[in-house]
Amino acid sequence: MPDSISSPPPRILCVAIPTPLRRLFDYLPSRDTPPGGWQPGLRVRVPFGRRQVVGVVMECRDHSDLALTQLKPVEAWLDAVPLPEDWLWLCRFTARYYQHSLGDTLHQALPVLLRQGRPLAGRMREHWQALAPPGDDDPRLRRAPRQAELLGMLRQHAHGLPTQAVVAQGFSREQLLTLMEKGFVARQEIPLSAAEPATEQLLAEPALPLNREQVTALAALHERLDGFHPCLLHGVTGSGKTEVYLQLIEAVVARGRQALLLVPEIGLTPQTLARFRKRFRVPVVALHSGLTDNERLDAWEAVASGRAPIVIGTRSAIFTPLARPGAIIVDEEHDGSFKQQEGLRYHARDLAVARAKHHAIPLLLGSATPSLESLYHAERGNYRHLRLTRRASRHAPARLELIDLRGRPRQGGLIPPAIEAIRETLEAGHQVLVFINRRGFAPTLACHTCGWMADCDHCDARMTLHRQPPMLACHHCDKHRPVPDACPGCGSADLRPLGSGTERTEETLAALFPKVPVHRIDRDSTRRRDAFEQTLGEVRRGEPCLLVGTQMLAKGHHLPHVTLVVVVNADAGLYASDFRALEHSAQLLIQVAGRAGRAAHPGRVLVQTLHTDDPHLRLLAERGYDALAEQLLAERRAAALPPFRFMALLRLESPREEAAMTLGREAAAMLRPWTSEHAPDVSCLGPVPAPMERRQNRYHVQLMLSAGRRSQLHAACAQLTAWLEASPEARRVRWSLDVDPQTL
Ligand code: ADP
Ligand code: ZN
Ligand code: ZN
Repeated sequence: MPDSISSPPPRILCVAIPTPLRRLFDYLPSRDTPPGGWQPGLRVRVPFGRRQVVGVVMECRDHSDLALTQLKPVEAWLDAVPLPEDWLWLCRFTARYYQHSLGDTLHQALPVLLRQGRPLAGRMREHWQALAPPGDDDPRLRRAPRQAELLGMLRQHAHGLPTQAVVAQGFSREQLLTLMEKGFVARQEIPLSAAEPATEQLLAEPALPLNREQVTALAALHERLDGFHPCLLHGVTGSGKTEVYLQLIEAVVARGRQALLLVPEIGLTPQTLARFRKRFRVPVVALHSGLTDNERLDAWEAVASGRAPIVIGTRSAIFTPLARPGAIIVDEEHDGSFKQQEGLRYHARDLAVARAKHHAIPLLLGSATPSLESLYHAERGNYRHLRLTRRASRHAPARLELIDLRGRPRQGGLIPPAIEAIRETLEAGHQVLVFINRRGFAPTLACHTCGWMADCDHCDARMTLHRQPPMLACHHCDKHRPVPDACPGCGSADLRPLGSGTERTEETLAALFPKVPVHRIDRDSTRRRDAFEQTLGEVRRGEPCLLVGTQMLAKGHHLPHVTLVVVVNADAGLYASDFRALEHSAQLLIQVAGRAGRAAHPGRVLVQTLHTDDPHLRLLAERGYDALAEQLLAERRAAALPPFRFMALLRLESPREEAAMTLGREAAAMLRPWTSEHAPDVSCLGPVPAPMERRQNRYHVQLMLSAGRRSQLHAACAQLTAWLEASPEARRVRWSLDVDPQTL
């Protein structure tokens, strides 16, 4: 930056520091000036209190409000080149929108190694090139078919390939090293920032010919690849949404741009990734929780530099800098995992919308069960509504059949008609999925003599009974204790499990169908990712079997041989206090139902309920998700709830019962007169105890703000956070602000 070299060095650097405080901190420049001069976006190491921290220069100024003698100099600059511009914009936007500290936002949005001060420049990458001319059938490779295959692949790439690309094709670095020892390939170290040689061909396999609806959707997307063009791709499971994503990405990459695809945590399976990597010859970078810190930084850098044209990631991948942004796609846009539920409580889908608008690029939100927010935008014409109504396979999605739980004997949660249907399906040689949204053996343990129940000592909650291994565990605070032999209340030995969880249903099914394997899939049975994949691999082979699982099974996984789905209990969301509960449980039910009958056979979905007459449940069963969503939107409008009003929730918690409530009252007492003067559109509800008031021995209280206009809601939130930061009482109470809360 010759400009900044010629201009006089700034006297003050305003630095964003990873602290909860919503302000920047002034420092003096270090004696050593970075080669490009001081500029916003440079990481610096600075003294902060008694620590050294990594911060980011946000402004360079001539003066400070503090006396110069009070300011400390920056210890060292860490980058010669600022962090990417688009990334800085996104962090600023996020901090402002979610009313979060900018320093903490930047910190969260950086890969761990960069947070720690690791340099970004000067990193090297391994590169492999085939050496020997393609001699026929070298004896040294005859008994190593994988190595021969790998060598064959390398020979197709005149410029060689980086390790990452080789591994992405299913080979290992060990195989490369062996080939090097045998003299077939050479290894080079290349600076990471070196440009990737252009790929001659984009596709590794041809795209599928699209059906009529897919053609219409893709044509709509093609109409405007150069501007902000938000679209909702609303299509039942199996209707070919992913094929539309693939072809949109193809168009974007062919224009020399990058595509970012966000998927739910549970959706980034090896199969999903394999599908993308099989289609494209260019690198497809995956960002997920399984990466090491080094791999994560490599991926970040590959995308930021523009070397990787396609990036697929979970929630936090929204913070990946894009050198040449071309399109953002959010798959299963309604999924709850896009919302971070602690610290910086951002929603990756909503940031995707903001980001696409900022870059002026297409945005594609895909779902079989769109969120009410997105449907509302589509209805109002803010988003283009693209529909796929037909499945690529022959069968329409299965209808939900409600079956009445009342007055019927249950075994492991299942009533006779469900058990009968399971038997018939297995006898026909098919697979069955039993969905039950509770892990463990039973929701709790109860004394049949005195009525005692196993409560958690730390939460307002019951402890779940587990058998594998035996214990009582609280699913809210993770405390566990041994299962008592006798009732701690009256000493009676008549302790019985109450209700059913996955373990109990598994046990029941194993007893009822001893000849058929039963696979349980929940967080306990799949602590190891490969165990999960192994089970799914077995299931895909298609032998008759029973799958018992929680929502881990409901999403993303293709289970072509399942023709019957049984939902053990559909009632959890029906009468919950949270206004979004119905929407979320309807989405989950449809998602589970979508697992049935994807391949050659039609499916059946049996839904057990105590409320066969519930109007919402009946609407869903008889007329489908879209009809229910329309009804729910009408109800939200009448009740002035999101998406018709905007919300923010102040959460307060403290180990002392009164402290959180008192602070909540004071905050409300400050805010009410302030809003009536400055933001009359804002209403302030509470403080009230949170739905589960005591969790981990802390008392939770919340104060709800809502407004028809976002600007006023944000003004009120800013006032509230400024007041809390200044309040001495607030230091003894943990508090956080949740803008657009997803759960109450
Ligand atoms: P979704 O993402 O909507 O669940 P997918 O894109 O995964 O749907 O498609 C479901 C199945 O249908 C996949 O096996 C896919 O390969 C296949 N498929 C999608 N589009 C087509 C098409 N145009 N022609 C043939 N098969 C298709
Ligand atoms: Zn008792
Ligand atoms: Zn607990």
